[in-house]
Amino acid sequence: VPLTTYWCEAAWVPPGRVARGVGVSIDGDRITAVVEGASEPPPDAIHLAGLTIPGLANAHSHAFHRALRGRTQRERGTFWTWRERMYDVAARLDPDSYLALARAVFAEMTLAGVTCVGEFHYVHHGPQGQPYDDPNAMGHAVAEAARQAGLRITVIDTCYLTGGIDKPLEGPQLRFGDDDAVRWAERVAAYDPGVGARVGFAVHSVRAVPREQIGTVVSCADDAPLHAHVSEQRAENEACFAAYGRTPTQVLDEHGALGPLTTLVHATHLTDDDVGLIGTGGACVCFCPTTERDLADGIGPARRLVDAGAALSLGSDSHAVIDIFEEARAVEMDERLASEERGHFTAAELLAAATDTGHASLGWPDAGRIEPGAYADLVTVDLRSPRTAGCGDGVEAAVFAATAADVRHVVASGRVVVDQGRQLLVGDVGRALADAIGAVTE
Ligand SMILES: [Zn+2]
Repeated sequence: VPLTTYWCEAAWVPPGRVARGVGVSIDGDRITAVVEGASEPPPDAIHLAGLTIPGLANAHSHAFHRALRGRTQRERGTFWTWRERMYDVAARLDPDSYLALARAVFAEMTLAGVTCVGEFHYVHHGPQGQPYDDPNAMGHAVAEAARQAGLRITVIDTCYLTGGIDKPLEGPQLRFGDDDAVRWAERVAAYDPGVGARVGFAVHSVRAVPREQIGTVVSCADDAPLHAHVSEQRAENEACFAAYGRTPTQVLDEHGALGPLTTLVHATHLTDDDVGLIGTGGACVCFCPTTERDLADGIGPARRLVDAGAALSLGSDSHAVIDIFEEARAVEMDERLASEERGHFTAAELLAAATDTGHASLGWPDAGRIEPGAYADLVTVDLRSPRTAGCGDGVEAAVFAATAADVRHVVASGRVVVDQGRQLLVGDVGRALADAIGAVTE
């Protein structure tokens, strides 16, 4: 395997600072050496101008929701417009169209600097809920899509059994279900996602998994990532409290589900007690601010959670936007709007959420840092674009000024996936998206 050396004009290195003139040697899919302070590139090194940061982790994705972007804003774009269109797309997917759509969406992610995605996967079966010949055909499609787009994936196989507390699945939801958590666990036990992919586990939400079956999912996850949607909207809390006399966070806590390998997605409407439980357990919370604002969910208590001991990761969830810099700065901006005060998170804290912590929440603790032994993921941000020029060369320029369009070069697992803003594996990503979305929409 050839040894490659990159020379970064500037790079963000542990424990969270920008170093100048950084040589990064790569052997296979790993970083083997990081050398700071070279004023000139070594003769055979590949020169990366701008600021090079570790690969970004998109810790919460539903790839097929990308087909809704724009279309669910028609008229005034109510929640019901969104939900009807979402079920409409879900009903049209099959393993081939899911592969094509997810491949294009993951390619869009790589253009935004994402080197690892957590796909919260619940479109498991045929349209009426009948299993495919291979009951994991859809899971194989989504893992293959990531390989073809050139990023790593954690397929978070999601247990989704009910359409609400004590409500059966119906219509387009039928294909999400596995009868019960034991059947779900049996299917997942037979699922091998292949090279560059890992398996995670999820309780879709306390709405979609009966309380007495949550423990089965938790024990299945064992030492792998366990994810769950939690308290995204107030209606979920009200239904949970009415049925169980507890908040969704308390129900998960009853099953020992709030440990360091757990990620609670959204965590928007929490009580003080919830915040304490999540922080004490050392769980991760995954904020998805561009989706949370698109769906009018509300603003979660990010700073309070982190102060209580929670870790923070970020996701683009419904893909109303795929831009992890936008997710990162939105955490701070939303806190400012809610509190009428500036200064809650530093750019370095937000970038750590987007890289190191995000990878850990997906079960890749050996990624998200530019250091020897880590996965060789390098994302180079242009600091001389119309958006970033004159913003300085610190990490604030990336987090508070750059957009996905400023990502110029991406190395994922040692392989160049984006060069000069071009996706090398998929080619014309706009066209791939248009074709794949056209196949699953009217
Ligand atoms: Zn979600």
